Amino acid sequence: MAEKAYLVKNPPSACKAILFDGDLCTGCLECVEVCRTDVLMPNPKKGEPPIVVYPDECWFCGSCVAHCPSPGAIRMEHPLSQRVGWKRKETGEFFRIGMKNPPAPNTKPPIC
Ligand code: SF4
Ligand code: SF4
Repeated sequence: MAEKAYLVKNPPSACKAILFDGDLCTGCLECVEVCRTDVLMPNPKKGEPPIVVYPDECWFCGSCVAHCPSPGAIRMEHPLSQRVGWKRKETGEFFRIGMKNPPAPNTKPPIC
């Protein structure tokens, strides 16, 4: 008699880690293949986005996003505590880690 194996999601985590856009995702499973920690698992429904089974084990390496052939289909959702942002006083511009066009590094010496 063949034994059955069941996949059980971790208890709900405060962090979603990975989000999919169901309209853009083709279910190619490339993101599942490249995730080294097996955070993602294939969806039993073919063509549907993978399932985030272990969000608390995601270390935000970005491989899944980088390898996705459908731009915008998958994105990382950093926990609130990791969403560091800063504001340039002179102009009011707001910056955050991971933004697409980060500002040039500050070359001014610190004010003592
Ligand atoms: S960011 Fe890295 S660890 Fe997290 S799901 Fe994607 S590939 Fe896996
Ligand atoms: S690699 Fe992109 S398109 Fe393919 S299953 Fe993952 S999110 Fe969907």
